[in-house]
Amino acid sequence: MTHTDILAKSGLTAADLTGGSLAVRSPVDGAALATVTEIDAAAMPGVIASAKAAFNEWRKVPGPKRGELVRILGEELRAEKETLGRLVTLECGKIYQEGLGEVQEMIDICDFAVGLSRQLHGLTIASERPDHAMRETWHPAGVVAVISAFNFPVAVWAWNTALALICGDSVIWKPSEKTPLTAIACQKILDRALARFADAPAGLHHTVIGGRAVGEALVDSPDVAIVSATGSTRMGREVAPKVAARFGRSILELGGNNAMIVTPSADLEMAVRAIVFSAVGTCGQRCTSLRRLIVHRSVKDQLLSRLTAAYKSVRIGNPLLDGTLVGPLIDKASFDGFSAAIANAKAEGGTVLTGGERTLTAEFPDAYYVTPAIVDMPAQSAVVKHETFAPILYVLTYDDFDQAVHLQNDVPQGLSSCIFTTDVRESEFFLSAQGSDCGIANVNIGPSGAEIGGAFGGEKETGGGRESGSDAWKGYMRRQTNTVNYGRSLPLAQGIKFDL
Ligand code: NAD
Repeated sequence: MTHTDILAKSGLTAADLTGGSLAVRSPVDGAALATVTEIDAAAMPGVIASAKAAFNEWRKVPGPKRGELVRILGEELRAEKETLGRLVTLECGKIYQEGLGEVQEMIDICDFAVGLSRQLHGLTIASERPDHAMRETWHPAGVVAVISAFNFPVAVWAWNTALALICGDSVIWKPSEKTPLTAIACQKILDRALARFADAPAGLHHTVIGGRAVGEALVDSPDVAIVSATGSTRMGREVAPKVAARFGRSILELGGNNAMIVTPSADLEMAVRAIVFSAVGTCGQRCTSLRRLIVHRSVKDQLLSRLTAAYKSVRIGNPLLDGTLVGPLIDKASFDGFSAAIANAKAEGGTVLTGGERTLTAEFPDAYYVTPAIVDMPAQSAVVKHETFAPILYVLTYDDFDQAVHLQNDVPQGLSSCIFTTDVRESEFFLSAQGSDCGIANVNIGPSGAEIGGAFGGEKETGGGRESGSDAWKGYMRRQTNTVNYGRSLPLAQGIKFDL
């Protein structure tokens, strides 16, 4: 299928693809895909007002009825799975299997949210006063801004939007300026669901294409109740204080620097498979990509010889083609970051065991394919503590288990972590309060590829937000505590006497 076919099948028209100022290139081969029209930041107050008006209506619609809209959205996504999956590949460069997986994740969160729309449960609480009832209820919160990153161009939107809609909120989505086409395609899919549903207020969901200024308009507006922002820690550092200064709420999903500890008892065959998938998959451009391998000295040589062999067998190439396992980096800036990190790692005493080069330049002179790198490091130095969004796996060696856990935690980020061991003492310690300090900690699986059922997010510089499953929905609602006196006197709490 040609690029033009993929765009046309996705329902993108000449009006969507031409006449604007935002140039979109495919990381697959550098081909120009579109010049998309951006919204002027000056128009944002109007968009926010429209979303606020829609919220005022949508909050009146019963939760299960709101769930019906998300159920229909899930149906529309099922029908579009292959088409949207291919567009994800074309626009952000992940392999087609992962593009499909991303759309499946959207379908999964819709299913989850539909069930949840009947389970926005509060609590009943025992009152200390006679003839009093206490309860806690959850109400819609307001306008939710979703600011998303290029590497999960559609799933992050669905995680947020499916929950926000069933929670009774309206949504304004600002996708990454690197991936506007998948966003326009998603808006069209949602529009079809809204047309079938028929009862949603106008302005319930807006997609706004633009750069930082458009994001900032959302961040700064007191009419945006929640800012759910996914991206780099740099972005989070700018967004968080601004939202906090106006006492808004933010859900931050920022950078990770994820590690795997491989202990002497580990099943090395399983570990190798998990390492390769999580370190080179998506060309190292997942927030949960494996970046640090903390391996016991006794198994290091064995593990690294199997691993370097596995790396050499990985097929790098056009992500639209079957059999490719590693596609390109998103752009030249990303490649420059990759090269600089390799140079810094060498300067800090590292030895490159494999990879670290640009490749396929004859076939794709305008795209940035690289050979995933493994770098043996003498210590957890500055380059290792920094998230480079590319396929570089730093190897650190440990002797004592405590040292391994210390290394795992001794970075600024706290997203995902894992341990390969068959020793229950080690695995339980790793999951305990003294173990991994990350939002995600796994045993005998890699750090990436989470299911939607669990809450997703991380600590420290990862931002502390939680999205997706479990009770993450509470982040999209406001909590209210109610006390009702059905008696004929007015007793005060704590037994206070205040007789008039
Ligand atoms: P990025 O920070 O460059 O951009 C992310 C989004 O933020 C874009 O939409 C961008 O326009 C917007 N933005 C940037 N500055 C802003 C500002 N000052 N105000 C408002 N909006 C602003 O990130 P990227 O390069 O697209 O994505 C890669 C990064 O995202 C990596 O660090 C990765 O770890 C992280 N990420 C985290 C998660 C997670 O769930 N923790 C998921 C995916 C990606």
